[in-house]
Amino acid sequence: MKLILLGAPGAGKGTQAEIVSGKLDIPTISTGNILREAIKNETECGVKAKAFMDAGNLVPDEVVVGIVSERIAKDDCKNGFILDGMPRTVRQAEALDAMGVTIDSVIAIEVEDSAIERRMSGRRVCEKCGASYHMEHKKPEKDGVCDSCGGKLVLRKDDAPDTVRDRLRVYHEQTEPLVEFYSAKGILKTVHGDNGIENTTRLIFEALGV
Ligand code: AMP
Repeated sequence: MKLILLGAPGAGKGTQAEIVSGKLDIPTISTGNILREAIKNETECGVKAKAFMDAGNLVPDEVVVGIVSERIAKDDCKNGFILDGMPRTVRQAEALDAMGVTIDSVIAIEVEDSAIERRMSGRRVCEKCGASYHMEHKKPEKDGVCDSCGGKLVLRKDDAPDTVRDRLRVYHEQTEPLVEFYSAKGILKTVHGDNGIENTTRLIFEALGV
């Protein structure tokens, strides 16, 4: 199964991708995590991406398309994958089509902007493995420490309130048109993402029929 999780930053794509990935036994491809890793390792791609990301803007399409085409060619993607955070523009979606990738379902997770702004202030990520947590809804066992790898949990630079507002604007302008794009293909399923993690997961499983 090839899935796309669509939604505003902070809608819960990463959290849900992790759960769905475990249930369906297919990998998650998070372009945000791959880019953050590239920045940490100071690769050529990371150097290109950093200024865009820090400002809450999108990284150029060709950079992201390159990353995804390399990643989905790997062996572990042969039974399917979950795209978390890609595509984010119609051009990226068209690039997936051009690569011959047939998407089975697109799950759009809907959450109000005001709820997202509140959520993002509590979000923390592991600086080592990229796992995400929330100070209220998804606390780690030990304060400030990642459950899976013991890494330090930090507030992402782009989760600062002003940057979040910029990212939401970018989402509405550049990513939201994808709702129409995939709806026209008849593969879009919309779920409400504002009633807790478990409830959202249940709605996603129902939408996927798994
Ligand atoms: P995320 O972790 O998915 O919220 O992504 C964090 C940041 O990485 C975004 O604000 C963008 O700057 C960049 N990014 C991630 N995925 C993409 C994408 N598909 N296209 C362009 N920029 C992206």
